[in-house]
Amino acid sequence: MATLAASPAVEIIRKAHPSPASAEAREAAIADPGFGKVFTDHMVVIDWAEGKGWHNAVLGPREPIALDPAASVLHYAQEIFEGMKAYRMADGSMSLFRADRNAARFNASARRLAMPEIPEELFTRAVRQLVELDAQWFPPVAGGSLYIRPFMFATEPFLGVRPAKQHKFVVILSPAGNYFKSGAPAVSVWVSEFTRAARGGTGAAKCGGNYAASLVPTGVAFDNGHDQVVFLDAEEHKWIEELGGMNLFFVFDDGTLLTPPLSGTILPGITRDSLLTLARAEGLEVREERYSIDQWEADAKSGRLVECFACGTAAVVTPVGRVAGKDVDFTIGSGGPGQLTGSLRDKLVAIQRGTAEDTHGWVTKIA
Ligand SMILES: *Cc1c(COP(=O)(O)O)cnc(C)c1O
Repeated sequence: MATLAASPAVEIIRKAHPSPASAEAREAAIADPGFGKVFTDHMVVIDWAEGKGWHNAVLGPREPIALDPAASVLHYAQEIFEGMKAYRMADGSMSLFRADRNAARFNASARRLAMPEIPEELFTRAVRQLVELDAQWFPPVAGGSLYIRPFMFATEPFLGVRPAKQHKFVVILSPAGNYFKSGAPAVSVWVSEFTRAARGGTGAAKCGGNYAASLVPTGVAFDNGHDQVVFLDAEEHKWIEELGGMNLFFVFDDGTLLTPPLSGTILPGITRDSLLTLARAEGLEVREERYSIDQWEADAKSGRLVECFACGTAAVVTPVGRVAGKDVDFTIGSGGPGQLTGSLRDKLVAIQRGTAEDTHGWVTKIA
């Protein structure tokens, strides 16, 4: 849709904050931030309009956004987002991890939702400038990060159904601790009767609509006493796809790994891709192949399957210890975190935080 070529670089204008949080208020807010509840002082907003392209780019105070009640996003859910993190490096600086991949995926989501693409350079510059400005919001907790949420939505006041001609791109930051409340060594997942994505749908796009549709299935999982929902494919209700917001890996007793293939109905996770790369670099065999719920149960029961984990930026690598559903209930391995799960997680985290060499060129130091 949008013309990416030959558009001059958009300048991001700084707007001073009239009343940023006091050091005292900020320190209280980030002492135990949890996930997604605390926000920093600033935000980036960039407008897009047909014929005009990206314009009006401001890095200024975080504040409510006025919307016309007819704004398309409120009616037809034209919205996409990304989830990334700034990490604290061993030397005290901060880093971004594979931010170019988030920018590229954001544009892939934009294309699927009939929205304009944003130059990757502008996306990463917005993220970087915001993180640098609000660096003092980095939470002083183990495993802490600044969670970065870039998103875009349709602002055009129009109730007809067609791609909107006006959008806003916004970036906000949220100091974050661990995604799952600590205590449980592994999560328990519920196999949903609902489906998340069908072939030809929006399963590979990171759009709010996918999450809206996952809330009832996730609620059923919670009601049954589980932490997360696992979705099966829409056609046969047989093949394992992913959790509501994380990809899945399986580890077998012969040391091989398996993860469902990027079939168009699952989200192409950057954590998934990074773990595939790390595992293969170590000489491990990783298959990207379909895996059925029946095989999952049989392999867990026979002991062939020894570990299972979920992965994503927010929760990093999370062991799955138990699987239940209407007709199934089984434990994986000891029901706790497995050895390979732990070592892959440690390797990834060490690269992100600069305690292991970044041989793949994934880390960009900032601030
Ligand atoms: C964001 C997301 C993931 C994980 O992607 P990462 O790039 O690893 O953070 C997995 N599944 C869904 C549905 C997602 O929205």
